[in-house]
Amino acid sequence: MVTVKETSNINRDKTVLSIYGDFHIHTIYSADSIIQPKTLVDMLAAHKFIKVAAVTDHDSVRGCNATIELASAYPDILIIPGVEISTPQGDMLVLGTDELPPKPWMPEDVVDYAKSIGAVSIVAHPFREYGMGDLARNYKVDAIEVLNGGSSVSANSQAKELAKSMGLSGTAGSDAHQVSELFSVNAKIDANLNVESVLKAIKKGFVSAHLTKG
Ligand SMILES: [Zn+2]
Repeated sequence: MVTVKETSNINRDKTVLSIYGDFHIHTIYSADSIIQPKTLVDMLAAHKFIKVAAVTDHDSVRGCNATIELASAYPDILIIPGVEISTPQGDMLVLGTDELPPKPWMPEDVVDYAKSIGAVSIVAHPFREYGMGDLARNYKVDAIEVLNGGSSVSANSQAKELAKSMGLSGTAGSDAHQVSELFSVNAKIDANLNVESVLKAIKKGFVSAHLTKG
């Protein structure tokens, strides 16, 4: 289990930098992805500026520890353990856990689980297939995925409007299932390169979503 301790002033610390991450990635532990953890780590280590990646397999955390282990050889990259939970209302991401929430997987249960361990709950691609759309308004999630690499421009802009009207942070993730899709979008975060700092920055809104150029 990843525990996230509360610390104060973390984002006022002058040493805080802007870092860039892809917060929605599937590895081979998702039945529909062919991305090997080693490939993800190699690509992250080689990338010019994206140095943070969240492993968010479908209803599985089996890829998290393997990926973190491989990444430990590179001090300048960070893997955030996570999961994409299939709730009856739509997909949700939990960042900052290497364990599954207890069932049932209703959105409010996933939100409560995330809060109980200091993780972050995010509504994934709300206006795409398996997205919860405006139902998201019913749940006390920490953030909305406003830029998803597999969503249309209009679905992403609807997601952005949703986040804005709920007063929530907007994250970005490629939703990559194959290597060519990795890092297609990124979120810029004002945080230090550790899980606790990144999660806290997302909750506080020190995050912006961008298409990855070049
Ligand atoms: Zn996904």
